[in-house]
Amino acid sequence: MDEIRKDLVKVVHGDPTKYTAVIFTGSGTIIQDVCITSLVPKNKKICIVNNGAYSARMAEIADSYHISCVNLEFPTTGLPDLDVVRETLEKDRDIAVVATVHHETGTGVLNPIREIGKIAHDNGCILIVDTISTYALLPINIEEENIDFLMSSAQKGLGGMTGVSWLVGNIEKIEKSKDYPKRSYYCNLYMQYDFFERVGEMHFTPPVQTIYALRQAIKEYWEEGEQARWERITKCWEAIHKGIEEIGLESVIDKGIQGHLVVTIKAPEDRKFDFLKLHDYCYERGFTIYPGKMFGLKTFRLCNLGQITYKDIEDFFVVAKEAFREMGYTIPIKQ
Ligand SMILES: *Cc1c(COP(=O)(O)O)cnc(C)c1O
Repeated sequence: MDEIRKDLVKVVHGDPTKYTAVIFTGSGTIIQDVCITSLVPKNKKICIVNNGAYSARMAEIADSYHISCVNLEFPTTGLPDLDVVRETLEKDRDIAVVATVHHETGTGVLNPIREIGKIAHDNGCILIVDTISTYALLPINIEEENIDFLMSSAQKGLGGMTGVSWLVGNIEKIEKSKDYPKRSYYCNLYMQYDFFERVGEMHFTPPVQTIYALRQAIKEYWEEGEQARWERITKCWEAIHKGIEEIGLESVIDKGIQGHLVVTIKAPEDRKFDFLKLHDYCYERGFTIYPGKMFGLKTFRLCNLGQITYKDIEDFFVVAKEAFREMGYTIPIKQ
């Protein structure tokens, strides 16, 4: 576990004298829970820069623990308005923590972390970022991105098994959190950190098999390499855009602000379109696609996280085109 903790810092180019990794047992949401409940000082507030389902989840966590939360909601189809973020922090001096999501997996929007971090730091706040769907996929340098705490989970970019999640955080700021309110027992950051430092183990029973799988996933990450993985993922994403264009579909999110990992697609408006039919046709032929995660808009998602190449995406589109024909469309479909 000691090796794994060091590697988890190395993946995001953290200086090991300044940053450390702390591991918890659970799916990704547990590490959101850890960060939100452990890093807000007494009588201080957290501000969530919220443009999607996963930042909304952090606001819900804050509410659940009665942590005073300024929930800055922005449209889920675009980037947050940084002037609003700056004004909010300048006006409300009780805000001590800013939290946001790097890549909103529900839409595919990639947020400007570095700029948000700069605004947070200029106003004496720390920045917590949910990098759960970008960690080990998109190159991240924790310090250059102005991040104090980032999070991830074994089953996402690293391709391990569900059941372990971690944060990589600034050691000085973890030490400082020692005196913050303990709002959760199992999810307290300082307690887990302190136990790791003193005993070299997790405070409670570790998910041993999942940890071994994580170790293997990290090994495979080093073997492929940061840049090669990013290029493979990007080629997959470009193949998705090519495929949807050929079918005659459009993405909801501007291509320039996408994270290269998820494409949200506008579903055809007519009655012939049936997501379940499309899903099942593809699923029976070895491909899984996702329903949309946006309120009020008929969408579906194509995701390219995982051990796949652009060839797999091309194979997928052969099947997807058949599925559209089965629904009664000619390709390219006309809307
Ligand atoms: C997957 C994911 C999570 C965590 O979800 P779990 O189902 O708890 O693993 C959190 N944030 C983002 C951005 C994610 O993609």
